[in-house]
Amino acid sequence: EHKQTINFGAGPAKLPPSVLLQAQNELLNYSGTGISVLEMSHRSSDFNKIINKTESLLRELLNIPDNYKVLFLQGGGSGQFSSVPLNLIGLKEDRCADYLVTGTWSAKAAKEAEKYGKVNVVHPKLDSYTKIPDPSSWTLNPSASYVYYCSNETVHGVEYNFTPETNGVVLVSDMSSNFLSRPVDVSKFGLIFAGAQKNVGCAGVTVVIVREDLLGHALKECPIVLDYKVQAEMNSLYNTPPCFSIYIMSLVLEWIKNNGGSAAMEMLNKQKSSMIYDIINASNGFYVCPVDTACRSRMNVPFRVGRKEGDEALEKEFLDGASKRGMISLKGHRSVGGIRASLYNAVTLEDTKALADYMKEFLKDHQ
Ligand code: PMP
Repeated sequence: EHKQTINFGAGPAKLPPSVLLQAQNELLNYSGTGISVLEMSHRSSDFNKIINKTESLLRELLNIPDNYKVLFLQGGGSGQFSSVPLNLIGLKEDRCADYLVTGTWSAKAAKEAEKYGKVNVVHPKLDSYTKIPDPSSWTLNPSASYVYYCSNETVHGVEYNFTPETNGVVLVSDMSSNFLSRPVDVSKFGLIFAGAQKNVGCAGVTVVIVREDLLGHALKECPIVLDYKVQAEMNSLYNTPPCFSIYIMSLVLEWIKNNGGSAAMEMLNKQKSSMIYDIINASNGFYVCPVDTACRSRMNVPFRVGRKEGDEALEKEFLDGASKRGMISLKGHRSVGGIRASLYNAVTLEDTKALADYMKEFLKDHQ
């Protein structure tokens, strides 16, 4: 018999079951067209309706102002680590960019940007990715082309609960792992990007939301498929887009809308993450989350198990027991070890409760 599986994966991650069912129902014959979205021309009127609907849902859910373009691109979040400097580092002659490096993903982005200009990490290097340096300690360069940060570091579980103040310099954010998990004031940003495979769909498509006046400054060596201006002018159809991934995103966005939008997602995500952090905090050091309480992620909760440091045998026992209960993909990223519970939008309160109950039971059994 098939026991229910609960997926706590960091991405690709759980999708709402209703979305999967709808995709299944429509797989062979999309909306009476007689063909699958998988077989559909990206230049057809049917696909045009899909991509336009996806964009209008995003605009509605995030209240995106009219002077922003919404793009659906390939290359993943990592592709944007290159596209951002290729398109924006030339905004000012100095070709300088400010980076906040608070985890693996922003570190990778900063390293990639160094190929195209001068990168200034605005705070002293962190010896562990467990906190966000106080903004009063940042040395922002007023003539930087942009300031870059990652709003949620997926590996380390470090999330900003504020929007950095840049004093007028263009702000760029990698929101791959907390996109649409809470409301955001898009007007504060020059550019936001997010891979879909955590909160808003499956792998293959990356959303870019970019202010219009920032288009048209790409370096001359910028590959044409990465040029935001070209893609914006072509409605993301300069070349074949990831059609099916865009379609899946439209279904997930509809699901978010029907479930109350970003504000409702935020309430739920607060509840879910508190449930797990409360157990960690009350465990007398049996569960340890190394992240500063001020910036603990609602999306990815990393923790170690056991009273001695790095008790990998006990962590293996924890993971095996979880897996016996149908709870999968709880292993921490290979670079940090331990456990990581990812609690994206599609993970329900009941899913989270199952993990919470198991954590309490495991604690009791190992007192
Ligand atoms: N940024 C963040 C915050 C991520 O979590 C990830 C992937 N886990 C990436 C970027 C890279 O995304 P991709 O694998 O789609 O290139």
